[in-house]
Amino acid sequence: MVLAQLGGSISRALQQMSNATIIDEKVLNDCLNEITRALLQADVQFKLVRDMQTNIKKIVNLDDLAAGHNKRKIIQQAIFNELCKMLDPGKPSFTPKKGKTSVIMFVGLQGSGKTTTCTKYAYYHQKKGWKPALVCADTFRAGAFDQLKQNATKAKIPFYGSYTESDPVSIAVEGVERFKRENCDLIIVDTSGRHKQEAALFEEMRQVSEATKPDLVIFVMDSSIGQAAFDQAQAFKQSVAVGAVIVTKMDGHAKGGGALSAVAATKSPVIFIGTGEHMDEFEVFDVKPFVSRLLGMGDWSGFMDKIHEVVPMEQQPELLQKLSEGNFTLRIMYEQFQNILKMGPIGQVFSMLPGFSQELMPKGQEKESQAKIKRYMTMMDSMTNEELDSSNPKLMNESRIMRIARGCGRPVRDVMEMLEEYKRLAKIWSKMKGLKIPKKGEMSALSRNMNA
Ligand code: GDP
Repeated sequence: MVLAQLGGSISRALQQMSNATIIDEKVLNDCLNEITRALLQADVQFKLVRDMQTNIKKIVNLDDLAAGHNKRKIIQQAIFNELCKMLDPGKPSFTPKKGKTSVIMFVGLQGSGKTTTCTKYAYYHQKKGWKPALVCADTFRAGAFDQLKQNATKAKIPFYGSYTESDPVSIAVEGVERFKRENCDLIIVDTSGRHKQEAALFEEMRQVSEATKPDLVIFVMDSSIGQAAFDQAQAFKQSVAVGAVIVTKMDGHAKGGGALSAVAATKSPVIFIGTGEHMDEFEVFDVKPFVSRLLGMGDWSGFMDKIHEVVPMEQQPELLQKLSEGNFTLRIMYEQFQNILKMGPIGQVFSMLPGFSQELMPKGQEKESQAKIKRYMTMMDSMTNEELDSSNPKLMNESRIMRIARGCGRPVRDVMEMLEEYKRLAKIWSKMKGLKIPKKGEMSALSRNMNA
């Protein structure tokens, strides 16, 4: 999960506060200090963190809170609001519409992930029924066209570029013209990146922009630079009309929080984040669900969105039905493990739930987690149908546990561990009892209910 470390530290601080019998000044201070430490470790600018702490203290006046008020809820809500404020970059200058031609120009330094992100952006929209196309106007880096061509071919997205033409402006113009004739509705122009912000790069960007008149310029930046993202975003904004930002490599860097808050501070709207090298490791950036996930509250709206996006139509009703019943049997756990191991679409869906695959399969420990899941499945293979289909934890008595351990040749404590994991997941699953399938636009309402 994105920023797992930061999220983990913040939710631990909140949990510790929740465990305290009385919430007084000291407990609040300890909690805020813990959160401050976590944010500074993620390279969030000191001033932003200090302001956030001051604001929370202003809102949460413990003496004023009348008896009966739920102090924990108020504190948690204040932290949620402040983090949202810190990360909220506002709306992009333009939002493309399906079926209506838009030209989108990508800019950024070399190595930021620009070319990869162009294809991810195209692929994301193609899955939603758009007709995207890619134009490679990067004539500076040898191999840039080949890279784009390879990515585009894999994703079956039309592309345009040249091995011989060295003028980026004419390639960009020809490509855009051609795809306009072919009625593509999302024409993506990839421009050259350089090693650092230099005059020649900005001049070339300006020329391509003037010639192709993009509806939106997207600036791509690497999150590993942390709060230095502020200066980089400012420099690009001053040279070209940046309308939106995509922050990449949020999967591998502790400094991601710093980069996101720094970009937000320049009032440049982050619209997507890159979370891996693969084509579909790409997420819409929406501040509330993002912070919700960071605080360990889960991302229910993202979860429902993902169900609609990636689960095949015919499987949706069955999955939603099982969710809404809220009865998490061992068989359901077995089926979800199969999905997670395949890392098929449903695996991605479940990564949205708090405690599901983040804890089961933390990034960087995929091998160990896979082995664990396979071990659990071997144990479940020794269970009877009655055991697999029951949601009554009392059924699993000592003699059944011994029998299962013998059957799969594993120690009793392993079986107990698997059953503990089952109970933990069942608790998460049960929160979805009574789930209604929301129509478009009802997502945030659902999210509010679930988080309440
Ligand atoms: P460009 O020079 O800006 O066009 O950058 P590339 O698209 O060639 O990407 C540079 C490197 O970053 C490649 O190895 C990509 O696979 C990698 N990359 C891009 N986006 C991400 C991301 O979100 N996560 C990770 N881990 N790697 C990424």
